[in-house]
Amino acid sequence: MSQDKPTILIERRADAVAPAERERLLQDPGFGRIFTDHMATIRFHPERGWHDAKVVARSEFALNPSALVLHYAQEIFEGMKAYRLPDGGATLFRPDANARRFRSSAARMAMAELPEDLFIASVEALVRTDSDWIPSADGASLYLRPFMIATEVALGTKPSAEYLYAVIASPVGAYFKGGAAAVTIWVSDNYTRAAPGGTGAAKCGGNYAASLQAQAEGAREGCDQVVFLDAVERRWIEELGGMNVFFVFADGSLQTPPLTGTILPGITRDSLITLARDMGLTVREEPYSIDQWQADAKSGKLTESFACGTAAVVTPIGHVKGRKHAFTIGDGKPGAVTERLKAALQDIQRGRAEDKHGWLHKLG
Ligand SMILES: *Cc1c(COP(=O)(O)O)cnc(C)c1O
Repeated sequence: MSQDKPTILIERRADAVAPAERERLLQDPGFGRIFTDHMATIRFHPERGWHDAKVVARSEFALNPSALVLHYAQEIFEGMKAYRLPDGGATLFRPDANARRFRSSAARMAMAELPEDLFIASVEALVRTDSDWIPSADGASLYLRPFMIATEVALGTKPSAEYLYAVIASPVGAYFKGGAAAVTIWVSDNYTRAAPGGTGAAKCGGNYAASLQAQAEGAREGCDQVVFLDAVERRWIEELGGMNVFFVFADGSLQTPPLTGTILPGITRDSLITLARDMGLTVREEPYSIDQWQADAKSGKLTESFACGTAAVVTPIGHVKGRKHAFTIGDGKPGAVTERLKAALQDIQRGRAEDKHGWLHKLG
């Protein structure tokens, strides 16, 4: 392999959205509703390896009805963001961590592994091409969605030989309508998200498909999100459908479930552990049961809880409901430690605080 930066062909479209219309769309982008002008794509073929890397007009894919992804769900994805910096430049946040996780998701799903430098180069090329789409409002960013599908034409059950990797970009505002308000979460005690030996640690669409019924049940119960318990004992808290979870105690310590293979290793989770320790707080990666959570919230031993992930950043949890549980965290409002950690993370991502850990990947 050459040490040179991978080459990505850029084919700018002639019919891009007009600047005035783009500015109008960026006023109130919502989440995942608006998409930029271009996309990045790279193909894999066993004889040619990774080839045809390019940024082109965002358009439909032509897929053969026998493409393996449509039948056996070989699909993985990533979620990351480009942020506008105070000097007008832009930055990615820990893209090397997304590139590594994308490879390990691919390995788990028996898919071709995209080299990390090619992953980062493709994301960079798309963000540079569509840089006018990065919103500058506080809390807004350009959400990036790298993903990969199995494209071999076959119906036999086997790993696909061919893949299509792509990156699309979507300007986003705050994830939850209402911004930083605390959310109510539903305890799913009948549906589980991931079992030991399964795909819980891979970022694959299949995990999401399996969580939608629980999410719909939570919504019917008036909840914003679902918290999943472990599949073996139905007792240990794992994570939300797309976010990791943290607990804050009256003694100032924090706890989050350990990465034992059924939980997605969140980059926000990892960053917050580091930032909390920088602040001198103790963070334990240890199992925590749903009954203990209720008992500690009721006794006042636990004072705050929050969910975290790239899309929603840090989201305070105010209330927890389930068939056998009902409790309020603290006074049901965002807590001080939660707010402090969220501000610390966002200040780094937005270039307002020193990047001590070298997490920013500036695009210049
Ligand atoms: C993406 C994801 C997360 C959060 O990961 P980040 O890297 O922090 O965005 C948590 N849980 C699941 C199931 C996810 O898919």
